[in-house]
Amino acid sequence: MVEDAQITKTISLENYGIRNANVHYQLSAQELQKETIRLGQGVETSFGALAVNTGKFTGRSPKDRFIVKDDITREKVWWGDINIPFDPDQFDNLYKKVTEYLSGKEVYARDAFACAEESYKLNIRVINEYPWSNMFAFNMFLRPDEEAEDFHEDWLIVNAPGFHADPEIDGTRQENFAILNFKRKIVLIGGTGYTGEIKKGIFSALNFLLPVYQNTLPMHCSANVGEEGDTAIFFGLSGTGKTTLSADPERKLIGDDEHGWTPDDVIFNFEGGCYAKVINLSEESEPDIYNAIKPGAILENVVLDEDGNVDFSNTTITQNTRVSYPIYHIDNIQEPSAGRNPRNIFFLTADAFGVLPPISKLNPGQAAYHFISGYTAKVAGTEAGVDEPIPSFSACFGAPFMPLHPTKYAEMLSEKMKKAGVNVWLVNTGWTGGPYGVGSRMKLKYTRAMISAALEGKLEKREYEKHELFGLMMPTECEGVPSEILNPKNTWNDKTAYDKKARQLANFFSDNFSKFEEYANDEIMNGAPVK
Ligand code: ATP
Ligand code: MN
Repeated sequence: MVEDAQITKTISLENYGIRNANVHYQLSAQELQKETIRLGQGVETSFGALAVNTGKFTGRSPKDRFIVKDDITREKVWWGDINIPFDPDQFDNLYKKVTEYLSGKEVYARDAFACAEESYKLNIRVINEYPWSNMFAFNMFLRPDEEAEDFHEDWLIVNAPGFHADPEIDGTRQENFAILNFKRKIVLIGGTGYTGEIKKGIFSALNFLLPVYQNTLPMHCSANVGEEGDTAIFFGLSGTGKTTLSADPERKLIGDDEHGWTPDDVIFNFEGGCYAKVINLSEESEPDIYNAIKPGAILENVVLDEDGNVDFSNTTITQNTRVSYPIYHIDNIQEPSAGRNPRNIFFLTADAFGVLPPISKLNPGQAAYHFISGYTAKVAGTEAGVDEPIPSFSACFGAPFMPLHPTKYAEMLSEKMKKAGVNVWLVNTGWTGGPYGVGSRMKLKYTRAMISAALEGKLEKREYEKHELFGLMMPTECEGVPSEILNPKNTWNDKTAYDKKARQLANFFSDNFSKFEEYANDEIMNGAPVK
């Protein structure tokens, strides 16, 4: 069962402007689960894990993510439709309204921290309207060893899903918002119950603070470490396989989503938990994640039967069904969550055009080019028979969370990669045998085999062939993988159609990259697909 820490202490939130609240402080997972069920906000599943619905929002809302424009951020943040400015006075007004809204209510407070590397430790106080959101914070942030008598937060998160903003008065786009205030060190979230906003709020804050003040590169990646202490990191946009592929029984997990790379060659996790997709989850293909679903874990937006059995194939509520759990729910973990300079870096992409090779090796110029591009593809909704994939480019494989200009992160990564002498691989976890609608998703078994081969150095001595358009080096053989799938063109029945699609995708890359060309040197431009 969930450990039940005996903490009876409570705290006052009057200083924050939250008056006369009944504050539940540092409740255990078990107590929070009980509270959630008592309030009718969740149910216990047959796993013993809690299941909740996050409400209207089942994903993040990037258009409603703001940064307060002040003396700290004005000159540094890359403002635009990703980092949307918010007025400091309007923030103060909205903060006041949210804290007044929480006054007199039952609220759930928690002290935790981010960053597994001691000197980076960021104390976080989280104040939630709902117990399950507080339990999410308990799962995802790091837990203080013992109750610090004098906890002083570096950052505060105020999370009120039930509060709705009035855009006319409050300066938001609509009723929901997630706002970062670097001067007041507050993440203010309202109008959305999607828990991912909580973790990505702190991630975004660190993505500003670490490069600006600590010469440390923040990364949207997962990480694990092998027997010999060899670290691997996996960059990729949502759904490309960071969480899935980093859970590898042969290697110790460092973390599944957010890491820093220090000037002292350390890779460390920001978080204390994982947040995995559970769409079509099966014990057979993803045993580590499946077995992490036990008391303490929270399933989000899954469909259950009357006995609390979860149907992972049911996407009635959303495709983005999730589970959060503390990292120790995974058997093989690295403690503390840190490793040395990586030996291998993987860029994961789910190429729904079926064009990119399942694994290829990048030279430094290609690595920088692909990092800045941050490519994956989305498959369009099934309605009206539209099955054309949509390319999605997100710089640094995480633009929505990166307050600085992408080239800032790219320069840091290039420098570190050169210093560490790391191998960089592009892995297509997306389509083979044709685009979405014709081909099929790469078998997880094959992707795992290719990654293992790369990690074990077995692709080093192999022969490679060069992709005509993308210039990527594709191994011609790989243990555990049929050779004919290694060159994507071989898997298409219609070779002319492949060439056409490849040309189309190369053009998407070029169009997207045009805005970065002025920052790119010859080495990087040589990493681009042939025009
Ligand atoms: P997020 O940033 O949203 O957390 P993520 O990069 O961690 O996303 P995952 O949660 O690992 O992405 O999602 C990958 C999904 O794709 C999983 O549901 C996994 O089962 C599925 N999948 C299917 N085929 C593959 C493959 N060949 N490689 C990796 N994942 C695959
Ligand atoms: Mn993930």
